[in-house]
Amino acid sequence: MLVDVLRIVLAILAVTTVYVVVRTILFERGRGDVPRFEPLRLDPNQVAEHLAAAVRCPTVPKDDKGTPDPEAFRRLHQMLAETYPLVHQQLKREVVNGWSLLYTWEGTQPELEPVMLMAHQDVVAAEPSTLDQWTHPPFEGHVVDGFIWGRGTLDIKNQLIGILEAAEALLQQGFQPERTILFGLGHDEETGGVNGCKVLGRLLQERGIRLAGIVDEGGGIFEGVAAGARGPVALVGVSEKGYLTTEVSVTGQPGHSSTPPPQTAIGILARALARLEAHPMPTHLRRLRPMYHGIGRAAPLPIQIAFANVWLFGPLLKRWLTRIPEMNASIRTTTALTIIQGGIEDNTIPAEARATVNFRLLPGDSIAKVLEYARRVIGDDRVKIQPVEGKFNEALPVSPASGPAYRGLSGVIRQVFDDPPVAPFVMLGGTDCQHFVPVCQAIYRFTALVMDKSFMGLEHGIDERIPVEGMANMVKFYARLLRVWGSAAMTGEPAGG
Ligand SMILES: [Zn+2]
Repeated sequence: MLVDVLRIVLAILAVTTVYVVVRTILFERGRGDVPRFEPLRLDPNQVAEHLAAAVRCPTVPKDDKGTPDPEAFRRLHQMLAETYPLVHQQLKREVVNGWSLLYTWEGTQPELEPVMLMAHQDVVAAEPSTLDQWTHPPFEGHVVDGFIWGRGTLDIKNQLIGILEAAEALLQQGFQPERTILFGLGHDEETGGVNGCKVLGRLLQERGIRLAGIVDEGGGIFEGVAAGARGPVALVGVSEKGYLTTEVSVTGQPGHSSTPPPQTAIGILARALARLEAHPMPTHLRRLRPMYHGIGRAAPLPIQIAFANVWLFGPLLKRWLTRIPEMNASIRTTTALTIIQGGIEDNTIPAEARATVNFRLLPGDSIAKVLEYARRVIGDDRVKIQPVEGKFNEALPVSPASGPAYRGLSGVIRQVFDDPPVAPFVMLGGTDCQHFVPVCQAIYRFTALVMDKSFMGLEHGIDERIPVEGMANMVKFYARLLRVWGSAAMTGEPAGG
């Protein structure tokens, strides 16, 4: 009898193991071969000097509303016009709301939906207190030791120069796209894009333009610094988390601290906040699974097995992921207590106590759902929770990791960067892309640069710099993307090109 039970248990274990192994093997989609192509020939030092010249125009906002410095933008626009004469002769250039730029490269088949490549012209300031720590001053644009140094070289004048450099080179070759190509270059992304790309997005809407695809900043090719992967993996942002700042407040009985009531406004608020922190929104693997599906064999084997068999390892996986802050943020709407206020006198019970709680919404969790969840967790009618005016936006729609725009883009990444696995992911931060949701369903955030751990902290940080070779590869990427996305099919060469 016991032997029979043992046999059955062993049989179940064997079947389960086979099932887990088969699912793991099938988890990675075969990538297939990428067609060969002829990369653009260019002089990396010349490209480097162009980026350095852009760095020398300090397009830093003058305040936290993003007010531009006209002189810096004037110089940048002049520098672009002088450096890229063919772009400025043959493309239509429009100035939008003072400083943003929209270039239109007319395709031979104007009935096709255009595509748009994006970058922002503005950069963040360099903290005055850190200036003496920079190896080369942030706005002098030095090309030294194989790097281009300065603010904006990683975020994101590299992309601005990369796009225009590639366009100029293709125009020199006499290239003409089948599909119309737009360059959307905002001027206030770092302060929310309200005067730049928001206006540009509305302009496209007014003109009735629908876009077949957008590529803006974000993601990249990460070498040993993402997803536990060993080799390089290319991550393409397909969505952005939402943002919700709330005020949590309690109005109670004011009075003297010599005769306190059993519960004060502060006590009630403290309990509510502790509950919010202890009960964050539920976790979901649905946004992370496609990423590991794309990364496939480059992920450590236990992770491959776990993501291929979420039916079995899901709970274990969630417990492990929630311990890593970046991973936790990728699988749930996060809850962060950021401000608390209440009381001014040591012997007086205040009438009111309030706190600020900031949520970052996973696509699929709406603002209404998060508010309802928070009210339920607090479970106390005396506690009010309200969104703060102007400080919330829903998570962005998830662009497909399939279809011609994505296939074309991932094919170009694989061709130019030695065939890394390409995978979709949800960005934790925001970009100008939010302003184009009404006109495009295939919005991708991808910065064509190979980054290892030596890049960490440089963006917005001290000694921001980019390798000359990395910058040259970015131009090759855009040159290839212009050809591929500029074709009618979006996945190959234009018929004549
Ligand atoms: Zn940026």
